[in-house]
Amino acid sequence: MESLDELLVKAEAAHGHLCAGQILGVRMALLGLERLGIEDPRGADRKRLVTFVEIDRCATDAIGLVTGCRLGKRSLKFRDWGKMAAAFVDLATGRGVRIVALEDSRELAKKLYPHVEPKSRQQMMAYRELPDAQLFSEQWVKVDIEASELPGAKGERVLCSRCGEGVNFGRFAEVDDQRLCLSCARPELRYWEAGDSGH
Ligand SMILES: [Zn+2]
Ligand SMILES: [Zn+2]
Repeated sequence: MESLDELLVKAEAAHGHLCAGQILGVRMALLGLERLGIEDPRGADRKRLVTFVEIDRCATDAIGLVTGCRLGKRSLKFRDWGKMAAAFVDLATGRGVRIVALEDSRELAKKLYPHVEPKSRQQMMAYRELPDAQLFSEQWVKVDIEASELPGAKGERVLCSRCGEGVNFGRFAEVDDQRLCLSCARPELRYWEAGDSGH
């Protein structure tokens, strides 16, 4: 595995800037991989890992970079819970470890570097060097991932009886014997409102 410094250089390039979230994310991912005994997540071990992230912030990019898990490969799962937390699941053994950034890490950073300004710099310096146990809590977890949710799963493609759009991975609902996409089945849950048809 590359060093923290090497990974931070890559994380900065991929994310656009270096920030406290990148450092926490890289360290969280390194800790998860270490606990699972996965040494080459983007090479030989690339099919072993699925990562669940619980927030869509800076750290998420860093976690994706270190683990090689991506939304587009179905190996990165997003649970929108607003928590600075991630679970790393080893498909080879079925073991998972969920890691949470501790609330008092900002206070620790303040104590460690009281005279450093701005706070973002103070936090970046501290998060590089504080031991894992002071930054994170961790817990072994069991995560059942259905076969249909795994990377590489093949699923039936269904055309919505109402809008005609194709739906993959079984994301449809049966309503009155019709197969509807979730947007037609539950219009109140749409994230969009129809405007003029676009070109
Ligand atoms: Zn950032
Ligand atoms: Zn539809």
